[in-house]
Amino acid sequence: MLTKNRIAPEKTVYFRPEIKSCPHCRSGLRFCHTVWKKNISTLQGVIRAWSIGYRCCNPQCPHASTVYRSAEAEMLSMKHSSYGFDVLALVGELRFKHHKTRQEIADELNGRGVKTSDRNVQMLYERYLTLLRASVTDQVREVLQPVVNEHGGIILSMDGVQPEKGNETLYVIREVLSGTILAAQNMKSSSAADLETLILPIIELGYPIIGIVSDGQRSIRMAMERLLPDVPYQYCQFHYLKDIAKPVVDLDRKLKKSVKKNLRGIRDVEKKADKNACLESEVAKEYIAAIRSLLLEDGDPPLNLPGMLIYENAKAIQESLQRCLAKKGDFTPRTSVQNNQQSKPVH
Ligand SMILES: [Zn+2]
Repeated sequence: MLTKNRIAPEKTVYFRPEIKSCPHCRSGLRFCHTVWKKNISTLQGVIRAWSIGYRCCNPQCPHASTVYRSAEAEMLSMKHSSYGFDVLALVGELRFKHHKTRQEIADELNGRGVKTSDRNVQMLYERYLTLLRASVTDQVREVLQPVVNEHGGIILSMDGVQPEKGNETLYVIREVLSGTILAAQNMKSSSAADLETLILPIIELGYPIIGIVSDGQRSIRMAMERLLPDVPYQYCQFHYLKDIAKPVVDLDRKLKKSVKKNLRGIRDVEKKADKNACLESEVAKEYIAAIRSLLLEDGDPPLNLPGMLIYENAKAIQESLQRCLAKKGDFTPRTSVQNNQQSKPVH
């Protein structure tokens, strides 16, 4: 499936384990190897995801060989699939609630930017059915017992995917160390009490639970904290950052727009500089080139905001210009621009 799905990723995301210290000896975890990397088609675009594995750094630890991986990376898609869970949930909904044909579903996905064919859609809803059949059975015990023997316990992750607003949410619970899906259910209500009914049968298996990972969703957190108050809890950073960063990213976009608007005048300055061949014109052109290059800044939101970058670099250029004007008639233009680290808008 991966090779057939020739898609160009829009961004690369490196996922590291949410758990930062060893659940057994509390030592720090250290990078050991890349667990997997793949392109994943989601309803929000294609991402190149890298799942980075970490191990306990204490050689005396009874579970020093356990490789911890990001629960969030595992939650993006099913094993051996390059389609996101959100796509899978949408296919399930279109097929079983709206009774759409394979071709209609393929058209809808393609319309939303998820490249697919009717054959792939068939495979996706077969996967969806497999997913919903996941439940606490003897098979699950067969998988989990060796995990407990080897790693000293299990780590749970829980995530909810809602393909269409206002409709049901598909909740999935996994065991992170083995990647086993323990429960998956469409739920009309996302209240903590309802989510507990999905979690409880897993706790009742009686295996030691050494960690929990989820996104910031309040009801998941409340349900887990009520049922497993003593188990260390970690949040998914990518999800969490996206949620809290949205208002900041929106404000930053406005800032970028307004700075760009203020800099529109450079075209006139450029025209004037072109007309007069003199030292001042050469200096002005250098500044114009610096401003043009800073306007191309895209940053990498939410951690590196383009509006802020443009604003700060524009300010540095402005300060450089003021120093330059103060020295007017008494400087060598090229070195004055180049020697001034602050005025360089290059990244
Ligand atoms: Zn350890």
